[in-house]
Amino acid sequence: MSTGVITASYIGASALFILALGGLSHQESARRGNLYGMLGMGLALVVTIFGLVTDNRFALIVGMLAGGGIGWYLAKKVEMTQMPELVAILHSLVGLAAVCVGFANALDHGADISGVEKTIHDVETYIGILIGAVTLSGSVAAYLKLSAKISGKPLQLPGRHLFNVGLLLLSIWFGVLFVQQSALGGGTVWLLLMTLLALLFGVHMVMAIGGADMPVVVSMLNSYSGWAAAAMGFMLGNDLLIVVGALVGSSGAILSYIMCKAMNRKFVNVILGGFGTGASKSGAAAGPAGEAGDVKPIEAEEAADLLENAREVMIVPGYGMAVAQAQHIVYEITKKLRDKGVNVRFGIHPVAGRMPGHMNVLLAEARVPYDIVYEMDEINGDFSKVDVSIVIGANDIVNPAAQEVPDSPIAGMPVLEPWKGKTTIVLKRSMGTGYAGVDNPLFYKDNTRMLFGDAKESVDAVLKFLSH
Ligand code: NDP
Repeated sequence: MSTGVITASYIGASALFILALGGLSHQESARRGNLYGMLGMGLALVVTIFGLVTDNRFALIVGMLAGGGIGWYLAKKVEMTQMPELVAILHSLVGLAAVCVGFANALDHGADISGVEKTIHDVETYIGILIGAVTLSGSVAAYLKLSAKISGKPLQLPGRHLFNVGLLLLSIWFGVLFVQQSALGGGTVWLLLMTLLALLFGVHMVMAIGGADMPVVVSMLNSYSGWAAAAMGFMLGNDLLIVVGALVGSSGAILSYIMCKAMNRKFVNVILGGFGTGASKSGAAAGPAGEAGDVKPIEAEEAADLLENAREVMIVPGYGMAVAQAQHIVYEITKKLRDKGVNVRFGIHPVAGRMPGHMNVLLAEARVPYDIVYEMDEINGDFSKVDVSIVIGANDIVNPAAQEVPDSPIAGMPVLEPWKGKTTIVLKRSMGTGYAGVDNPLFYKDNTRMLFGDAKESVDAVLKFLSH
């Protein structure tokens, strides 16, 4: 394959990746965006394998088929609610690849280069391995946290900031030693030591971040995996990898910023850790004084009656709706109410569920029209006009403690405000807390009614009563 064809194909693939990102920014065009991404990746693979690779092509294809097969199997098997942990563990593979490419590059010693060129080569290798190792161990720690295999509580070692600064200074020092000794044909030991430090730093950084801030960790690791890929691009002299890595790295960084804004956090504070202590799972109320008390249960029949007689209904979906897979029946209820002249809208919190856009994906899957789905900022002012808000498996995103309890782990996080409407019906199985482990005073408000049970069974029952 001629260099011209390879370059043109790489430019084409880069354009397709940019179109993919553009497509993914809106629900209506997300499917198209995915298609562009797949085409771009297909083109990049074909051109790289048949245009650039000269040796061991058979081994490469066997490896790709094995990896692709595992990916296919995982994608088929994984539940929507397990997506964040899958994404986290996939990010760790990008980190691992960057570390492996870096070591291969270092051991190759850049045989035909010397002087400044060699120094640049060594610095690229060093930084590539550093980013890769942080991404690798940070992603594994995030995977363990998100899949609840280890506690979500932030690990607050005494003097942890000093510890991090120490790791950074040591890494810089080892880097200088590596570049000096690599010029004489050695230095691998410093690379190994730095890799250990970077692995330690990745784990420590993610372990220090509390449950409530995990959405930022997911998007931040997404960004790191992009920079790790870009670093690989520099090491391998592959322009496409640099472009794609930069696209992923910067879009992940923008997403982290959006998530921080949605949670009213400063990025630096999240990274420094300590928020979201994941305190109690007991379900005992810890709301503002005097707020805790009896909850008022409601039965499906009465809930259906309230909905039918409302003019304005707001549906607030959360993680529990995803677990129960209740979205299809929720849409059936929506259609029935709309047929009866009720104005039904959906209010979506930016960190509802367990991954960015989680609720939008579920609602799109159930074919809920996009024009009745609103972002939190668009809809929050309207709750005072709402007759019935129905909160389906959501907890943290509707927790008034974020506004009312200054020392709450979620204090300052913007939340949807259903309590400002006439009646709120909360669908959940128990009085248990949500992801952040914070008790919710909403459940004890005078105008809140609790419909206990699995969300799918509850909405099913409500739908049946609506039909009468
Ligand atoms: P929460 O985790 O706060 O609450 C979900 C609620 O759903 C629980 O209280 C649970 O109560 C209920 N529930 C669980 N299963 C069912 C079921 N089968 N039927 C009915 N109810 C059920 O979810 P939210 O969506 O309100 O908030 C998201 C949280 O996740 C935030 O804290 C966010 O920071 C965090 N997060 C978000 C990420 C993202 O990118 N969006 C990533 C990582 C974390 P019960 O057990 O009583 O039924």
